[in-house]
Amino acid sequence: MIPYGRQDISDDDIAAVEAVLRSDFLTQGPAVPRFEAAIMAETGAGYALAVNSATSALHIACMALDLGPGDWLWTVPNTFVASSNCGIYCGAEVDFVDIDPATYVMCPKALEAKLVQAEAAGKLPKVLIPVHFAGQSADMAAIGALARRYGVRVIEDASHAIGARYQGAPVGNCAHSDICVFSFHPVKIVTTAEGGVATTNDAGLAQRMDLHRSHGVTRDPALLQGESAGGWYYEQVALGYNYRMTEMQAALGVSQMTRLTQFVARRNALAARYDDLLAGLPLTRPAQHPDSYSAYHLYPVQVEDRARVFAYLRENGIGVNVHYIPVHTQPFYRARGFDWGDFPASEGYYNRAISIPLYAGLTEADQDRVVAVLAEALNG
Ligand SMILES: *Cc1c(COP(=O)(O)O)cnc(C)c1O
Repeated sequence: MIPYGRQDISDDDIAAVEAVLRSDFLTQGPAVPRFEAAIMAETGAGYALAVNSATSALHIACMALDLGPGDWLWTVPNTFVASSNCGIYCGAEVDFVDIDPATYVMCPKALEAKLVQAEAAGKLPKVLIPVHFAGQSADMAAIGALARRYGVRVIEDASHAIGARYQGAPVGNCAHSDICVFSFHPVKIVTTAEGGVATTNDAGLAQRMDLHRSHGVTRDPALLQGESAGGWYYEQVALGYNYRMTEMQAALGVSQMTRLTQFVARRNALAARYDDLLAGLPLTRPAQHPDSYSAYHLYPVQVEDRARVFAYLRENGIGVNVHYIPVHTQPFYRARGFDWGDFPASEGYYNRAISIPLYAGLTEADQDRVVAVLAEALNG
């Protein structure tokens, strides 16, 4: 079976993890700050906070922005459930903005229309989470301008998009957002097995996320409310969690980050090859906005008779997947009042979507086989 995605682990990656296991620190040592420095160097952001998943990063980002009961968080339906669950964790209400039917990311026109309505109803959101679906940045200049006009804070869910560029600048620089979140799950561009990072240029947000990832406990003299009683002294000044990344994960991340440019270039080359090989087939290829250099986490195609095509590919050794079942149609969200029909662009996209295999280690021979089986499914 050719999977839809998989990690690329080198001997150097293995040696980096092994060196940590032989060292003094398995957690809270030098590797996490080194990984954070690599993310800052890549993105140009002023701060990077590593945690044990992107889900945790989204949660501490929402907490740092003071999201709570009575507030609203908006994201897109075409995402993994974590992008909206972080709002529920904070006791906030969640709503959705539909996608652009060509690029599958948040539609700025749909956002503007919804903001106008929400303002009239006195229900503007506190936090907005655009998602850089498949590795392509949402239109952050338009979204950031609307967010500023309506006083909404922005967290980019860039789980698919480390190494991507928007208007020539790296995703994660937070030029149009408050915070940007990356995932390092094994199917993503770079992996730490499990892991996430939140970047920001705001010192206050960085400090709050740092507290929330580690129990709300601090030794920082600037944050202590009482007198330090001695070298052992710490204070809990907020309610935090244990969301820390381990040293093994961070060392793997540092080693992987040295190949980020290569991984993204390879994914782009394979995507361009799919664009050519699939050109004559009855399907829609993923459109790229001219402002975007995608990290190509996914290569989603749109086909008629999706269930039959999907089954045929799986039966013939092609490990396809579907991204994403619209979040608002999940039973958990339907129980909160959403239903099919609420977000037609996301639903229309989903009904025809198949993600075909794409990862740095995919060979051209594998790719040719994917295309041949897909052609059989579509023409046969
Ligand atoms: C993978 C993913 C997440 C969650 O990432 P984890 O690191 O697995 O917690 C969140 N949002 C999107 C869009 C994702 O693809």
